[in-house]
Amino acid sequence: MVTLYDTTLRDGTQREGMSLSVEDKLRIASKLDVLGVHYIEGGFPGSNPKDIEFFERLGELKLEQAVITAFGPTCRKDTPAEDDAGLDSMIATGCMALCIFGKAWDIHVTETLQTSLPENVRMVRDSVAYLKTQVDTVFFDAEHFFDGWKANRDYALEVVRAAADAGADCVVLCDTNGGVLPHEIAQIVTELRDLVDVPLGIHTHNDSGCAVANSLVAIDAGCVHVQGTVNGYGERAGNADLMSIIPSLVIKMGDTALSADQLKLVTEVSHFVAETANISPNPFAPYVGTSAFAHKGGVHASAAARLPEAYEHIDPSRVGNFARVVVSELAGRASLTMKAAELGIDLSADQEEVAAALDAIKDLEYQGYSFEAADGSLAVMLKKRLGTYEAAFTLESFRVIAEKREDGRVMTEATIKVHAGGHRYIATAEGNGPVNALDKALRAAIGRFYPRLDKIELADFKVRVLEENKGTAAVTRVLIETTDGERTWGTVGVSENIIEASWEALVDSIDYGLSTGKG
Ligand SMILES: [Zn+2]
Repeated sequence: MVTLYDTTLRDGTQREGMSLSVEDKLRIASKLDVLGVHYIEGGFPGSNPKDIEFFERLGELKLEQAVITAFGPTCRKDTPAEDDAGLDSMIATGCMALCIFGKAWDIHVTETLQTSLPENVRMVRDSVAYLKTQVDTVFFDAEHFFDGWKANRDYALEVVRAAADAGADCVVLCDTNGGVLPHEIAQIVTELRDLVDVPLGIHTHNDSGCAVANSLVAIDAGCVHVQGTVNGYGERAGNADLMSIIPSLVIKMGDTALSADQLKLVTEVSHFVAETANISPNPFAPYVGTSAFAHKGGVHASAAARLPEAYEHIDPSRVGNFARVVVSELAGRASLTMKAAELGIDLSADQEEVAAALDAIKDLEYQGYSFEAADGSLAVMLKKRLGTYEAAFTLESFRVIAEKREDGRVMTEATIKVHAGGHRYIATAEGNGPVNALDKALRAAIGRFYPRLDKIELADFKVRVLEENKGTAAVTRVLIETTDGERTWGTVGVSENIIEASWEALVDSIDYGLSTGKG
């Protein structure tokens, strides 16, 4: 069985324009755990405060099976491993698996590190050996391994052997510059396989468009551990895309890395991570894209519906996707029923309602809604349809004023009139923007009636302008993430007006929070 190692939270965040909050990282980690990824690289504890906070908050994660790892370099040159502050900061995370990287290409040793070739081998060997006395599992990422092998094969081999002899649990061969082609990877891994006695892993980048292919040929040649990111996020042209590697591995290469049930979550995880990272999911992504199994009308579509295996390389339901001609964009009936059950709504007895709800979802998705990262709004919407929804409050009106002053300051003020529990409440609040002001005014208005609202806070707020590609004018989609300290939920609003979209997401967020939490 191949070990799946996700580095979305570390290498993935190197993608230009991508930024994840600590909250986002924690949510993604638990999603990857449910998917069944074996190792999740949390970050580089020596590198920035966000990664340090992530490791400090690891206790909040209740993982089923995944192991969180910390990442960092070997000890510095001329420094004993035991005295190296970087290695210590990795150990201090409390992670029982660590991944360190070191150079495997001679010019990087002499030119970038500016040290001698033997000293670099010592750094690798001593760092692995020292970490093995501190934690259960140590992975060694042999940086620039393939380019190093091509330039100075003996030296690249020496570095791999040093890590192996020091007790590394896996030596991961990295195509750091992403320029190596599949036939070269196959040949080099095959040769190396016979020269060393250590489990080998593969870590590729997509600069030649071959990251997924390179990972698969490396596995075919004997690698037993694969590193990649969700949706191939990563620096430059990206990392190897686990959302393509995993289905190929399990469905086409017969590997047991994930069970059939876990594999069905791949599409959902792909979309969830995209929404959380505020990146539009790629509709044309293999396996998981909304167009990956879309059959365009006419003869082809009806033939595909009659004899799907003649037109589809796999049954899309195996990866939780679906052929677009027959079912909705969110999911089929079974998955909607399952999703609803997860949200505490029983639809199992009413297949007609399931079909009608799917139509409604399809219609909303057409308008620009996306429920993949908005469970809270999905729950509110389903309850409204079933007539079991109780609004926490009703709006009479709100007004938002934004004022830019001569001194450059911007003031935003919101006034809100609402009804709750038979009373009319009016409140005004200032905020650092229209949504913040509205949120504060709403809390001031109904906070006395709902003391629990104190615990419910907005954790994140994301805005995306959707292109006019679905038959409507450009609209704004707002995703809000809310937490009550124990749970986190997402809600969504869509409108041509950003304040209206935000309000919609805000109301769902508070309604859902008040209707489901304890206390
Ligand atoms: Zn990398």
